[in-house]
Amino acid sequence: MDGTALNVNADATPNNLEPYWMPFTWNRQFKKDPMLVTSAKGMHYTSADGREILDGTAGLWCCNAGHGREKIVEAVQQVVSHLDYAPSFQVSHPLPFELASRIRSMLPGDYEHVFFCNSGSEAVDSALKIALAYHRVRGDAARTRLIGRERGYHGTGFGGISVGGIVKNRMFFGPLMNGVDHLPHTHNLEHNAFTRGQPQWGAHLADELERIVQLHDASTIAAVIVEPVAGSTGVLIPPQDYLKRLREICDRHGILLIFDEVITGFGRLGKPFATEYFGVKPDIITCAKGLTNGVIPMGGVICRKGIYDAFMDWADESGNTIELFHGYTYSGHPVAAAAGLATLDVYNEEGLFERANELAPYWEEAVHSLKGTRHVIDLRNLGLISGIELEPRPGAPGARGYEAFKRCFEKGLLIRVTGDIIALSPPLIVDKPQIDQMYTTLREVLENLD
Ligand code: PMP
Repeated sequence: MDGTALNVNADATPNNLEPYWMPFTWNRQFKKDPMLVTSAKGMHYTSADGREILDGTAGLWCCNAGHGREKIVEAVQQVVSHLDYAPSFQVSHPLPFELASRIRSMLPGDYEHVFFCNSGSEAVDSALKIALAYHRVRGDAARTRLIGRERGYHGTGFGGISVGGIVKNRMFFGPLMNGVDHLPHTHNLEHNAFTRGQPQWGAHLADELERIVQLHDASTIAAVIVEPVAGSTGVLIPPQDYLKRLREICDRHGILLIFDEVITGFGRLGKPFATEYFGVKPDIITCAKGLTNGVIPMGGVICRKGIYDAFMDWADESGNTIELFHGYTYSGHPVAAAAGLATLDVYNEEGLFERANELAPYWEEAVHSLKGTRHVIDLRNLGLISGIELEPRPGAPGARGYEAFKRCFEKGLLIRVTGDIIALSPPLIVDKPQIDQMYTTLREVLENLD
């Protein structure tokens, strides 16, 4: 130590932006014209130049209870000061057990076991490994193929980008995993543009799964993974009955169904998880983000009883047993688990999932009030999610979206863009005037955009 006090002040502007290689960011553009926030409270960030920015995206779909929640902050402070770390295997501590029980109580049915990790990407790769190992341990070792979906986003691990279907996220990293197929995505402006809620057209796209199954033989397929509502690709709402049809085909052929609920988990659709909203039960659910309100990184893989039991029940003739040889140094970390427990308390005490459910019709009206606004070629919504698709500028895909993003930030609204699609997913504490403000700002920005 050179005696200099440690500077952890978020208000201090960094004097060199270069060393930090930012993820998923146009680094050169950012470093010329940085957009920094220095604090957050409730529905707002404060920018480095002292402006209030209305959070239209719950950070990155994670701060469902809004920012600066004292109960969560206190839980984190309390735990870190008396148990900073405990080993994640062979030894543990009480908090992840309690958190797993709480998650289990939020789901109808036999979702009895939760495996913890540190992010959505880790949750996805863990879920894929659990699915593969589950079949092995049951003696169904030929089931090694995985099926994802075009335009799907399942994080950035090799498993996640293999089953994922966003071209830019895959293109530099091949050859990726073997034995992966992709269902078609459900985006279709010809049939579904400006649909409110779930589109009527498109359930038949699930039947493509049957074709893939026939092609490879059902006995070779381990699992299908989809986001119930695809977020990062630009908000694709599942057509009515689509998810149900996937479930039926999986059931027919002994294939596990995984719902990646990293964005839909914890109230985004007005229910604890999308499985309840859609009435379709996957075998495995991945979650992260809203699990800790974004305060401390954490992810989870929620499994139906039979999956865990397959490992627990296995024994060879000599009585040797087996375990899942997988995990992370920080699985079930005390500070993350404490943040998770406090977060679930806040959701519960404030009835935030019910609040999201009640606000959803108002949200829908607000989203569709943008119909006719310049550049808008589609509007989509479900729960407290919306997608606003802009016509790309000829020869410059993504440019219009990025400009909209920058101008919204200047005008005090944080949105998220993927290419030319704007996604909004506010904290569930949002109120009606704030919803109005979001869409008024967006309308002004879009009307004045080239
Ligand atoms: N799955 C889905 C559906 C996601 O939306 C995301 C993140 N946007 C991830 C996985 C990856 O999560 P993380 O960034 O925490 O790794």
